[in-house]
Amino acid sequence: MTSSIVIVGGGTAGLTVAARLLRRTRQLHITVIEPAEQHYYQPYWTLVGGGIVPKEASVRPMADVMPRGVHWLRDRAQHIDPDAQQITLQSGQTLSYDALVLAPGIQINWDAIPGLTESLGQGGVCSIYDYRQAERTWDTIRTFTGGNAIFNGAATPVKCGGAPQKIMYLAEETFRDRGVRNRSAVKFYTPGSVIFGVKEYAQALLKVVESRDIDVQYSHTLTGIEPTRQEATFTRPDGTGGTETFTERYDLLHVIPHMSAPDFIRHSPVAATSGPLAGWIETDPYTLQHPRYPQVFALGDAAGLPGHPKTGAAIRKQAPVVVANLLSALLGEPLSARYDGYSSCPLVTGRGKLILAEFVYDNKIKSSYPPFMDSAKERYDAYLLKRHGLPRLYWNGMLRGRA
Ligand SMILES: Cc1cc2nc3c(=O)[nH]c(=O)nc-3n(C[C@H](O)[C@H](O)[C@H](O)COP(=O)(O)OP(=O)(O)OC[C@H]3O[C@@H](n4cnc5c(N)ncnc54)[C@H](O)[C@@H]3O)c2cc1C
Repeated sequence: MTSSIVIVGGGTAGLTVAARLLRRTRQLHITVIEPAEQHYYQPYWTLVGGGIVPKEASVRPMADVMPRGVHWLRDRAQHIDPDAQQITLQSGQTLSYDALVLAPGIQINWDAIPGLTESLGQGGVCSIYDYRQAERTWDTIRTFTGGNAIFNGAATPVKCGGAPQKIMYLAEETFRDRGVRNRSAVKFYTPGSVIFGVKEYAQALLKVVESRDIDVQYSHTLTGIEPTRQEATFTRPDGTGGTETFTERYDLLHVIPHMSAPDFIRHSPVAATSGPLAGWIETDPYTLQHPRYPQVFALGDAAGLPGHPKTGAAIRKQAPVVVANLLSALLGEPLSARYDGYSSCPLVTGRGKLILAEFVYDNKIKSSYPPFMDSAKERYDAYLLKRHGLPRLYWNGMLRGRA
């Protein structure tokens, strides 16, 4: 009998799973629900913001990357009824499924920081977390004539937790190349208490910021932007156990917006209801199956996984696990595939320099380099991998179910 698989989202995770399922068997009826006509290779947006690649290099028509053999429904999932094994779409159509793969990505809440929506792309305010804004970010960086350049760190779980720093390093290098660094201050204000979650990479990054004279301040959270006065408001510890608010003028402000699971997930029965992963899809961290609804699997940015491994690199390791376990579940067999929490963050520190951070659950390093090579070093070969190798692996390998 042909089983019916519904995949929500035709982004990195949804298409990788669809392509892998098709390679395993043609005995499935696979529907991908995806409203967008474009598919983005988002890791390039850092390099777009740094003036290294044009934004057009990061986009392809969805029709060109949708695996042949799936049924693409240009619609939006709106309501999940996991007890009835049904999903209702924006058009009103209801689909039944034997297995559901949830891969709708992350939602960017641009209006959560007051003043951001009005100021984005103008007066020095920029962000690489959007296709068009990534290009504007490069315009802002290359036309910067000096002054106060502030980069905020993430206040919520975000996709690619290293991206806020990567764009700062590329900007700082550009300021030096253009002769404006000596009349500029470069500041990283982050709500976090460390520069990176994995100790070995954090130590390497602290050396980078020190050598580049970048001012890093922890427990600093961006709470508002006043574009007419070019002022940003932050909270920080007041030294007596409380917090205080302060305002600082900026000439360039690169903003990491707040992010969350998509609203239709947060308000659905599949969301975790308590703990640090509340709102994200409740997901077994190893099998990637929903603990309460065994027909449901999740991966990618919307999955509620410890440490928030929200990267394409994580999806490359999650997708084979989802495919193997989903097929086992359909056959009523035990789930044997396991995800170890792998994620990778190619920390670009300049044109031609990159620290390839790779780690698993509990922030333990899992490097692809042989043991005699120091993975926490800035490397040219790792930069070439990010610039040329990984995009090819993505379009020709992952999205075709081959890598
Ligand atoms: C600036 C930046 C830099 C990054 N750098 C790196 C990097 O260096 N390395 C790395 O590995 N990763 C990086 N990433 C992260 C990586 O791009 C994401 O982790 C990955 O794309 C997540 O895949 P996903 O399928 O979960 O979500 P997405 O790829 O975002 O896809 C989600 C899809 O779901 C669709 N969708 C949304 N809602 C619905 C709905 N209701 N119904 C149906 N479909 C829906 C959307 O239209 C979208 O197509 C970066 C991301 C950014 C933004």
